[in-house]
Order: sequence, then structure tokens, then C-alpha cells
Amino acid sequence: MAEISYINPLSEEGKRIIHEYGDLNQLNQEDDDLVNIIIHTQNQKISDDSIIPKTYKDLAINRIKWAIEKKNNKNFVNQEYEYFFNQDIFEADVIAFHILCQAIAIQFNVTSRETRMFIEYQGKLIEERLSKIAPSLRYQIIDDILRDISTDGSIKWTSLKDVISSKKLSLMQLLLDDGEIILEKEEFLEKYGNKFDGRPADKIYDIIVGQKLKELILSRLIMQNTEEYIKRIKEMSKHVELHPFIIELAEELKEMIPEEIGKYNTFYAGSGGIYGTVKGGKLVPEAFPPCIQNTIDGVSSGGRNDAIVLLLTSFISYARLYPSIFGSDEPIKVSDIDTDLSITENEILPLIYEAADNCSPPLFDDQPQEKLNIISKLGFGLHSEINLENEGETKWYTPMSCEKIKMHLPQLCKEDKSCKGLNNPLSCYGRRKYQIDKNKKEESS
Ligand code: SF4
Repeated sequence: MAEISYINPLSEEGKRIIHEYGDLNQLNQEDDDLVNIIIHTQNQKISDDSIIPKTYKDLAINRIKWAIEKKNNKNFVNQEYEYFFNQDIFEADVIAFHILCQAIAIQFNVTSRETRMFIEYQGKLIEERLSKIAPSLRYQIIDDILRDISTDGSIKWTSLKDVISSKKLSLMQLLLDDGEIILEKEEFLEKYGNKFDGRPADKIYDIIVGQKLKELILSRLIMQNTEEYIKRIKEMSKHVELHPFIIELAEELKEMIPEEIGKYNTFYAGSGGIYGTVKGGKLVPEAFPPCIQNTIDGVSSGGRNDAIVLLLTSFISYARLYPSIFGSDEPIKVSDIDTDLSITENEILPLIYEAADNCSPPLFDDQPQEKLNIISKLGFGLHSEINLENEGETKWYTPMSCEKIKMHLPQLCKEDKSCKGLNNPLSCYGRRKYQIDKNKKEESS
């Protein structure tokens, strides 16, 4: 029988393991028991010594590497991480999970890509672990954990409202009766057993509820609880200093994550922010397309507000942080790239405010509220300053297309040959930048 904490590290059993572990300094020491478990794991690939984590800290780092590789590496070899599916690892894994939650909480924003990836892959780890347990034992452990999580023996859909609102689970996936989720076969048969003419009700149960839904609810609840746990640690870390080992691990994650992702995704490789400066890097004003240069030079009262708040704010922020937005379908936030918002504070906002000042009359003189709108278009809600706590209250507004600019701000569009065949100023900026680089190379050679 698998231990409960092998699936739910936040269980009482998981807390007891942490409590009994004691001194965090030993996390850096080689642990023979851990190595033994790993080398005796069935199907474990050990062709290379570096595959085997020797310390609990290595194990924690490898948990993150597993998630990154699984997500990005097309040639991912599961057997290199087979030990994560050996039930004997449960105690070491519970400790790795908890120290990672602490390091992530102090290093990253709760809504950052890094935290989201950690939580998402905690869910995937649970699902994969469950799938490797024999069905009868699996059903039993799922029931035990669900009973453990639900306080009064039943699960009401309202207890899942956070999971549903975070889109980790859809209300459409649940079978509800008077606000309660029908999960047990006996309950289903009692309520609906005589409602299906000519079709066995237990087969219908397997189709519309079944074990799969229980597994899904279980993994989503643990993901939700992990997120809340990280939030609590973050809050607590404002008042209590965490152990130096956790701070060291947090620093290591900050370096390691972009490095590892960069191996598989050159788009994210680079420096300056957890996902690198992307291809954008420092702004090249000479490459700004005519509409942007005209906006920076100052706009008269006619289209002032739209030019600064809608056109320039989105253009400058994406050109600096994420110029390939139109080639990506992943949701992205400013802090995914500019983790401490220093680029936004020191490079992006000053340029926008300067352009606002160049307007005639200066935009903020008679409309100071437009500052709030600029912050809101960067995704930080209607506030006077950017703050990680508010990120996500609004969406990071994507750059306007040439078509829209021509329609709403025709005085700014002075199309030239660099705009030919393109449909937004960002592409035009990319083309001009490329041309400038090429010219420089030719000149120097
Ligand atoms: S064509 Fe597009 S990029 Fe070029 S100036 Fe007009 S709006 Fe700007």
C-alpha cells in the first residue's frame, strides 16, 4: 500500500515527516539511503552518475529538472527520473517538495511562470504516480486521501470553487446533486439506479463519473493546496527569515531554471530575467517604425490618449520584453520576463512618460488619470504604480495592428518601405532592427 504522503505531501503524514526531519543543514549531505533507493528502482537508467541525486537538495533540483524536461524536451527519457515513481522514495520526496515550496515562495511571485510550472507538474506527478499503482490499491488510496481532504465526509462543489475559478477543473466535469458532488458508485446507484432503461447504471457511472474524475479532483485539490501553502510561506517570509539553506536553494533555482529551459527553447535562453531578455533586449530607438517615432515626438490633443495609452505602452513593453508575442499562444505576464520589474520601472515607463510629456498639451497635466490606464494596460490593474501584488488584475494589452492605427490614429502612420507587407509595428520594428544589425556587420567587415 502506497503511503498517503507519496501522493499528498501536504497530508498529516507529510507534515510529520517534515517535523521529524530536523536539521536542514543535512540536506546538502550525501544520503546513502536515498542513493540506495534510486539505484534499486526498477527500470531506473543509471548510465551516467550525474543522473543520480545524492543529496536531498539534488533531489529537489531534479524535481524541477524533471518538470522542465517533461514540458520542453522532445527526447525526454522518463527512465532517467524513474526513481520519482518508486514508492520507497516518499519520505525524501516529501522533504524535497516542502523545501522547494519554501524556496519558490521567497524567490518567485505566486503567479510567476516558475510557480505555475511547479504546481502544474506537482499535479502531473500525482497523476503519473497514481497511474502506476495497481487499480484496487489506487482506488483505496484515492478514497483515503479524498476523505482526508474533505472534512465532513462529503465534497461540496463550493469547496472546489477556488479550483474551478483557477480553471484547474471545470464545473462541467462534475456531477452535482443539491450542491454535493456525486463521486461514489453506491451513491450514484442509489440516486439514479432506476433511471436508465435498458442500460446498466454502473456502466453509466463509469462513463460520467468513474475513478478518473476522482483522480482529477484529487490532483486539482492538491495543486490548489500547494498554491495556498506557497502563498502562506511568502506571507510568513516577510516577518521571519527562512533558513540559509532555503535562501541558497532559491538563488540556485533562479539561475538553474532559465539555463535548463534555454537548453530546449532558444527563445527563452539569455540573461536578465528568469526567461531571459528574449530576442528583444535593449530598445533600439533607430528601429522604431514611423508611427512609434511620431508618438514619441509628441501628439497633439486629437489622438493623444490612445497614442500613449494604447499604442505606445503596448508597443514599448512588448518590444523590450517579448517581441515575439504574436508567434506565441502561451499567456504571458510582464513579470514572467521582468521578474523584479526593474526593466519596466527603469526603461519602459520613463520612455512612455517622456512621450506623454512631449504631447501638446502634456498628457498628465490635464489628464493625470491616464497614468493609471498605462499601468492597467501593462497588466497591473488600475493603480498609480506597478506592483507584483496587483499583476493579473488586468491583461497585458497587446500591440495595435497597422489596420487599427490607420483607422484610429491615421495622422501617426507615415508608412515607408520598412512597413511593406507587415501588419503591425512590432514586426516592422523587428525588420528594421535586423536591417540595422546587418548594416553594422557589413560595415565592420
Ligand atoms: S504601416 Fe504600420 S508600422 Fe508602418 S507606420 Fe503605419 S502603422 Fe506604423
